[in-house]
Amino acid sequence: MQFDLILIRYGEMAIKGKNRNYFERKLQNHLIKKLEPFKETRVKKSRDRMYVVLNGEDPHAVMKECQEVFGIHSLSFAVKVEKEETEIKKASLYAFQDAHNAKTFKVSSKRADKSFSIRSQDLNHKVGGYVLANTDGVTVNVHEPDVELKIEVRNDAAYITAQDYPGAGGLPVGTTGKSLLLLSGGIDSPVSGYLTMKRGVQLEAIHFHSPPYTSDRAKQKVLDLASELAKYGQTINVHIVPFTALQQKIHQEIPEGYGMTVMRRMMMRVSEQIARKREILSLTTGESLGQVASQTMESMNAINDVTNYPVIRPLVAMDKLDIIEISRKIKTYPISKLPYEDCCTIFVPKAPKTKPTRENANYYESNVDFEKELTEAIEQTEMVEVRARQKTTGEFDDLL
Ligand code: ATP
Ligand code: MG
Repeated sequence: MQFDLILIRYGEMAIKGKNRNYFERKLQNHLIKKLEPFKETRVKKSRDRMYVVLNGEDPHAVMKECQEVFGIHSLSFAVKVEKEETEIKKASLYAFQDAHNAKTFKVSSKRADKSFSIRSQDLNHKVGGYVLANTDGVTVNVHEPDVELKIEVRNDAAYITAQDYPGAGGLPVGTTGKSLLLLSGGIDSPVSGYLTMKRGVQLEAIHFHSPPYTSDRAKQKVLDLASELAKYGQTINVHIVPFTALQQKIHQEIPEGYGMTVMRRMMMRVSEQIARKREILSLTTGESLGQVASQTMESMNAINDVTNYPVIRPLVAMDKLDIIEISRKIKTYPISKLPYEDCCTIFVPKAPKTKPTRENANYYESNVDFEKELTEAIEQTEMVEVRARQKTTGEFDDLL
């Protein structure tokens, strides 16, 4: 016996009224793309549900892929059999045994095809008895079962599902617009990108690097991070900004205490310009209040002064430990932990001002002409299209 289908349930999406069709189509397209390596699979949509037809592909491998698609609340395998008692019993036992740790269960039958001769109640008892007789240490619990075995007798066949697998939640990527993620090599910004995508946002990313002070490996690290994020949203375009000239000028011309603030303001200016070019309506950062000296309320205020673009900061109210937990889950943690230098750490003053003001930042900047360096940085930005890695190498597994 084998699982034939994966049933897909979408929670939040279902309440989106007339947008529902649009959301469903996006979700279906994401699933089709995601399952491309599994050539035999088909993603189908009927009036009231979506499902993957496995056609002999490895059920658990396909399930794993589906669990990375936003917009899905939960999933379960289904076995499709003839509407015949013995077949239904065998399939039910098979489906139940997929839930390895389940100790209790109940059976719920639904008979859409009223010509099927066994009434739902009777079918529950017969199947329940069969499962009990063929398992050890398992009991029935109708109130809080570990697994609810669901049998649906439809017109074409009987469908049996057992355990629920959690989906990634959120909304299908691309349903709520686009954002430009300021992606460093650190722990925070990839997590921030993940959470934004989870809300249905399609990302492009921007990274500032400063050769020769930062190496190609540091840049590769960022592309690897983008590749992990691309698992959730197909491709991610990463804009690589050459930042050396601007940083050197800041270093030479701006009082040390304001170097960090002005550098961040430059990042915001460049990011906004690139976003405009790409018709992207917001920026996303990994800023989290109070984490480091540079992330104070004053600092955020002084940095934000240079753009009126919406800045999404999903981590602003999160604890570091919770952020790390997510970064482990989404597998960006071991990449972020690689020790390559970051453009900021190189030029950053030993003692950045923790309470900068807009007025001072504006004043120091007004004494310097950054126009040429800004224009060049934007003009020389290159775009790299990053796809999800096909297979993880296992290289980082011991760090997780
Ligand atoms: P992260 O872990 O994301 O690097 P952080 O805790 O190191 O964050 P900061 O160094 O203060 O915090 O950076 C704040 C945010 O600024 C980052 O989360 C990121 O969005 C953006 N940022 C910093 N450096 C870069 C860079 N080189 N390229 C692109 N964005 C950057
Ligand atoms: Mg950082």
